[in-house]
Amino acid sequence: MSGLAMPKPDAETLRRRAEIVADMRIIVPGEGVVDTANEMRAFESDGLTAYRQLPLVVVLPETVAQVSRVLKYCNERNIRVVPRGSGTSLSGGALPLEDAVLLVMSRFNRILGIDYPNRIVVAQPGVTNLGITTAVEQEGFYYAPDPSSQIACSIGGNVAENSGGVHCLKYGLTANNVLGIEMVLMNGEVLRLGGSHLDQEGYDLLGVMTGSEGLLGVVTEVTVRILKKPETARALLIGFPTSEQGGQCVA
Ligand SMILES: Cc1cc2nc3c(=O)[nH]c(=O)nc-3n(C[C@H](O)[C@H](O)[C@H](O)COP(=O)(O)OP(=O)(O)OC[C@H]3O[C@@H](n4cnc5c(N)ncnc54)[C@H](O)[C@@H]3O)c2cc1C
Repeated sequence: MSGLAMPKPDAETLRRRAEIVADMRIIVPGEGVVDTANEMRAFESDGLTAYRQLPLVVVLPETVAQVSRVLKYCNERNIRVVPRGSGTSLSGGALPLEDAVLLVMSRFNRILGIDYPNRIVVAQPGVTNLGITTAVEQEGFYYAPDPSSQIACSIGGNVAENSGGVHCLKYGLTANNVLGIEMVLMNGEVLRLGGSHLDQEGYDLLGVMTGSEGLLGVVTEVTVRILKKPETARALLIGFPTSEQGGQCVA
C-alpha cells in the first residue's frame, strides 16, 4: 500500500494470528471464518480501490451472540476490528487493517418484520438498501433514501455512513428515516437505540450512531420508516426564463 499512512500493525497481534483464527472458528463455526490470502483478497478493499490491504482474518458472523463474542474477545485482547457491510464505501471506511479482524455483516440478510399500518420495516443490517423497497413495493411502499449504490450497499452501511440519494432532497438522509437500531458495543454489550416511533426521549444516541462509520459499535438490526409510493409519477419538461425561477419552482 502507498500514499496513505496506516497505523503501525501491532506485532503481538500478528504473532498470535494462528491462535486468533482458531478462536474465531470456535466462536463462528462452519464457513464463517476466511483466513487464506486468496479468499481474503475479495475483502482487501472497499469502493476506494486505490487502497488495498489484507486483514488479519475475515469473520462472517450469523447471529448477534456471535458478533458480541467476537467483539468481547477482541476487546479483551486489544485486537482491532473493522466492520464491513457490502464494501461500497467510497471513503475507505471498510478498508481492512493488517492487524484487524474484518467483521463482515453480509450474512445478516433477512427482513425481520414489516408493519404496513405503522409504515415500518425491521431488517438485519446486511439487507441491501434496494432490498427493503423490493420487500414492500408490492403493497405500494418504498424506502426513500436511495444512494446510487442501492442495489449493493447494505442498510447497516447506510446507517454507518448516513447515506442518501436524490430522494433525500425531499425526504432527508438515512438519519431522517431510521427509527431505531440494535447494536453491539466493543465490550460485547448489546443495546437498543430508538424503536418503532420517532424521537425517543433523552440524548439522541441514535443520531450519534448514524454516520459514525463503524467506530462506536456494530449495527445488528435496523428499523426504518417506509413511505407510500406516489399514485402517479410523470416526467415534465418545463422551460423557465431564468435559473432562479427554475430553482424556486423546485422549492
Ligand atoms: C457506485 C457507487 C455509488 C454510490 N453512491 C452513493 C450515493 O448516492 N450516496 C451515498 O451516500 N453513498 C454512495 N456511495 C457510497 C456507499 O455506497 C455508501 O456509503 C453505503 O452506505 C455503504 O454501504 P456498505 O454496506 O457498502 O458499507 P461498507 O462500505 O461495507 O462500510 C461503510 C462504513 O460503514 C461501516 N459499517 C458497515 N456495516 C456496518 C454495521 N453493520 N455496523 C457498523 N458499522 C458498519 C464500515 O465500518 C465502514 O466504516 C456509492 C458508492 C458506490 C460504489
